[in-house]
Amino acid sequence: MKRILLSSPHMSGNEQKYINEAFETNWIAPLGPNVTRFEEDIANYVGVKGAAVTDSGTAAIHLALSVLDVGKEDHVFCSSFTFVASASPVIYLGAEITFIDSEPETWNMSPDALYRALSHAKKVGKLPKAIIVVHLYGQSAKMDELLEVANSFGVPIVEDAAESLGSEYKGRKSGSFGKLGIYSFNGNKIITTSGGGALVSDDEGLLERAVFLATQARDAAPHYQHSVIGYNYRMSNVVAGIGRAQLEVLDERVFQRRSIYNRYYKELASIEGIQFMPELKDTKSNRWLTTLTIDSSILQVNPYEIMDSMNKKNIEARVLWKPLHLQPLFANKDFYKHDERSIPVSENLFASGLCLPSGSNMTEEQQNFVIDNLKQLLHKRLLVKQII
Ligand SMILES: *Cc1c(COP(=O)(O)O)cnc(C)c1O
Repeated sequence: MKRILLSSPHMSGNEQKYINEAFETNWIAPLGPNVTRFEEDIANYVGVKGAAVTDSGTAAIHLALSVLDVGKEDHVFCSSFTFVASASPVIYLGAEITFIDSEPETWNMSPDALYRALSHAKKVGKLPKAIIVVHLYGQSAKMDELLEVANSFGVPIVEDAAESLGSEYKGRKSGSFGKLGIYSFNGNKIITTSGGGALVSDDEGLLERAVFLATQARDAAPHYQHSVIGYNYRMSNVVAGIGRAQLEVLDERVFQRRSIYNRYYKELASIEGIQFMPELKDTKSNRWLTTLTIDSSILQVNPYEIMDSMNKKNIEARVLWKPLHLQPLFANKDFYKHDERSIPVSENLFASGLCLPSGSNMTEEQQNFVIDNLKQLLHKRLLVKQII
């Protein structure tokens, strides 16, 4: 049987049409009509004034921080419970990073911890230049509360919506709330261009600046003149063709991923000791990956054992992101817990959580195979006291 992957590219069939357009008009070189159209389509879909597409989500974060003038000696706050790419650009820019814990309802940034971190930073005169808020696995963070706290200190939010394209918070699209938002079109995301990203904002001046920096920061002069350092981060016109076709099926992909989640939920939620990632009231997750936690006082199994057992059946499962404040790369960075008297929420999630295969191109038969294997394993591990 073919390996069942966590999340693999799912083409719509129209990609080739836009790629061919690029070839027929010889718009192979960077930029061109697909790039322009893809940017317009993203901005319209998300409900913001503009978008700039890049060759990765990481590059988009780098640009977002750059246009907010993050540099040496500056500070940036970032969710701890995330993939390393949320934070790497802070280090590229030579700035200091402080990590903020999750809260249990969304698994995303805790407004309480953010408030304490900002209060302390203000007291010592080191308010951050930006706060990177991540929406993990498609679930929106508590944006109202986070924006209220951030605004009260006058610090802009950059939304890392790499995993939450298509998700909604109170009727608005994830990624459209911060000063800037970023998306990723990496191969494992809900839609993909093989590799790519986007930066969105209602501030067109910031986007213009981002595009300038993304194209080597060339001054308006008759010769090649440069006053600041730039990057080569633009998405190519060929790649943007893939993006246009993928965006056309984004809502369908959200529906498919949510259906996959619903089937897992229906089949597994009744097993004692399992808890699926919650969906906050008034939000709609794209359910990029179906994730769950295991209560070890009820089920005698840890996520690594499940991962290994699934792997033997040719099923790819994965533990949740290791919090960045626990990464060797970020040893000794400041970290603010959700509740000062308890174990960090992000550490509990990391110790107990698991992602299940969730690709929109997974067949029902494949999903049943995953469910059956998981059921068999978990039933064997129910602690005796729970059975009687
Ligand atoms: C995928 C991802 C990124 C990075 O995007 P790339 O396009 O791979 O550079 C950043 N943050 C999060 C949370 C991600 O999942």
